[in-house]
Amino acid sequence: MTAQLLDGKSLARTIEKTLRDEVETFAKVRGRRPRLVVVLVGDVAASGSYVKSKESAAARVGIDSEVIRVPVTTDTLRLVSLVQGIAQDTHGPADGILVQLPLPAHIDTLAVLDAVPADRDVDGFHPENAGLLSQGRPRFIPCTAAGVQRMLIDAGIETAGKHVVIIGRSDIVGKPLALLLSARGIGGDATVTLCHSRSADLPHLTRQADILIAAVGHPNLITASMIKPGAVVVDVGINRVETDGTSRLVGDVDFTTVREVASWISPVPGGVGPLTVAMLLANTVLAAELRLGQT
Ligand code: NAD
Repeated sequence: MTAQLLDGKSLARTIEKTLRDEVETFAKVRGRRPRLVVVLVGDVAASGSYVKSKESAAARVGIDSEVIRVPVTTDTLRLVSLVQGIAQDTHGPADGILVQLPLPAHIDTLAVLDAVPADRDVDGFHPENAGLLSQGRPRFIPCTAAGVQRMLIDAGIETAGKHVVIIGRSDIVGKPLALLLSARGIGGDATVTLCHSRSADLPHLTRQADILIAAVGHPNLITASMIKPGAVVVDVGINRVETDGTSRLVGDVDFTTVREVASWISPVPGGVGPLTVAMLLANTVLAAELRLGQT
């Protein structure tokens, strides 16, 4: 069996088309466009390139965006007060505020993220948004988790009653995914096992998965022998590897061998990544609409 591809890139373009219409309607009613403000600290190449792809996707759907670049020498207090200022619209209307992670080690990341008001938190990391998600009444869902669920729904992959095994328990990906896929409703109702670095006998657990989701950050961690034949495999990992002096991006899954065992597989790049960006745009439009409703 050769697995069908979960084409995140093409689904992201379809989502963008719908968002473009919503943005045009918003602009007509409000007299301005939804606006996203991104804070980028330091000059880590990967973060810079993620921010660039967010900026160009925002431009494609007509969302205004601004990137505020901050030198790596900043400290927690200064960064918190910058975010608080953005939240008071001192940098223009900020419907959505995003602090690009990871922050340098000397910064208290939680203190900075907590400074983003819950109603502008388009990354969905604020405790209030995490709490709403855990109670099954989500507002801003973390973008990668929302993107994975959307990918499964779009491909017509049933989750109800299925055993989903997620590898990785981060607040950004693994945990919100476990909540989403086990919640009641479309794209949910699954039985979820959440694995992590201390899980015993990972292959034993992964072989039970109808749907396996890898979000670790470890190239080729998942091999064909760890997959139940016919399973759906979603690869969230993004790893830069060097082969013969050439650098390329790979996921956590050994794509070439696993695609011969799985029924569906998401590629890296072109899988979950573009959907993460599309969900960020969707959250930004939602944030702008929520503000429109409030004023
Ligand atoms: P993280 O470092 O916060 O979490 C990694 C998780 O993997 C941890 O919970 C850890 O317990 C688990 N883990 C580590 N080694 C393991 C092992 N040997 N066996 C089982 N579990 C193990 O990372 P994160 O922020 O959740 O990101 C995970 C990966 O997803 C990274 O490669 C990241 O670049 C990628 N990512 C991709 C997107 C996207 O849009 N495609 C978005 C966010 C993160």
